[in-house]
Amino acid sequence: MAAEWETVIGLEVHAHLKTRTKMFCRCELEYGAAENTRTCPVCLAHPGALPVPNGKAIEHTILLGLALDCEIASHAVFARKNYFYPDLPKGYQISQYEAPLCGRGTFALPTAGGERTIGITRAHLEEDAAKTVHTGGATGRSVGASASLVDFNRGGTPLLEIVTEPDLRSADEAMWFLRLLRQTIVELGISDAEMEKGTLRADVNVSVRRTGEEGYRPRWEIKNMNSFTFVGRAIEAAARRQVAAHEAGEELVQSTYDYDPDTDRLTVHRSKEEADDYRYFPEPDLVPVEPPAELVERLRGLVGERPAERIRRIEQAIGFDGAVELVTTGKDVSAEWLVVEGVPWRTAANVVMNRGPFLRENAGALAQIINAGVVRAAADKAFSLSALGPIDAGDYLGQTALSDESALEPVVDGVIAANPEQVETYRGGKEGVLGFLVGQVMRETQGKADPKVVNRLLREKLQA
Ligand SMILES: [Zn+2]
Repeated sequence: MAAEWETVIGLEVHAHLKTRTKMFCRCELEYGAAENTRTCPVCLAHPGALPVPNGKAIEHTILLGLALDCEIASHAVFARKNYFYPDLPKGYQISQYEAPLCGRGTFALPTAGGERTIGITRAHLEEDAAKTVHTGGATGRSVGASASLVDFNRGGTPLLEIVTEPDLRSADEAMWFLRLLRQTIVELGISDAEMEKGTLRADVNVSVRRTGEEGYRPRWEIKNMNSFTFVGRAIEAAARRQVAAHEAGEELVQSTYDYDPDTDRLTVHRSKEEADDYRYFPEPDLVPVEPPAELVERLRGLVGERPAERIRRIEQAIGFDGAVELVTTGKDVSAEWLVVEGVPWRTAANVVMNRGPFLRENAGALAQIINAGVVRAAADKAFSLSALGPIDAGDYLGQTALSDESALEPVVDGVIAANPEQVETYRGGKEGVLGFLVGQVMRETQGKADPKVVNRLLREKLQA
């Protein structure tokens, strides 16, 4: 893209909340259950059936709001969002409109070049629609399908929607934000947020403008993205097309698009509806939600140190990329157990990235083993057993590398005496044979010799 254009991106992220039952009825949530076996009169919208809100879903939403530094509403209102679609049996979705549970907040996004502040517009609670499956067509879409089937199991699943301000400026930044937001959601324990299972989805709003330009040009909304990579590619495709259109003097209109990752193409879904089209009004069957201050304070205590904060703290010890890798894999937690026991950060990071998980109770013993420089085979054994039960550092601490020259010298001399051919080859200029001689010393010492010391001794003696 020409340098004088910048991309403006906002996200609407949907996460299925991890609750036992649906948002407004007692149907159990089970991913992969047989079609239409998790339904009842409430979520199928039988006449006279009344919704009862799921308290756990409300708590989860407040928890997320606190983690995003949102204002938590003292008075939130459920609203009806009216539209007609086969996967919506009531003819409306219960959502939140004017009075969401979570108002304005911020997300401090760590980057290699400092911190970016991404505004959170709101986070609210709603119910998901059912799932429509189109069959018989070539594309899996409604066009050309011979039948469209609806699975109501998903209908009524508690859904958290997080809306950002248009503060993101590139596809990479949007993907990074999304990954870190996902990590935050997962760590709070409120959702599995797995894109491949559809429990995390994102709508992406994209527009472009000249660098330095105030205000925004018409945006395209790309719906229902279910992979981080596709989010990035869709943003780039939309920005490319918009820049080309603006430069050609074409008038762009605000529209909704579908992105096809196979062809990298965007196709118009529908012209963007305005909020008026949904005829929002307060849900008459539900009283407003007024979270007690004690509840909000109790939840605040559960937020803990957020992934973005941990990256900023850990990057001071091991750099940004290492901190990102540790935190986004969730491995920083076990690295920190070792650090607390006196292992330097960089060593702890390497250890947890390269070895399997271990029980927290073994952190002290493992730290002793690491810091003592125990030989590799013994350390490997200690780590593999440390995932299964308590280990005793004393079983391993004796197996440290042999680096005492006076102890190693006789072994080195013996190896030189026993391998005259290799010694001649080395002296003839083929230094590669040194590795063989080092190997012999290692074998003689059952792997305990410090290879650096052996290397140096051998070189000294062979040059003599
Ligand atoms: Zn139900």
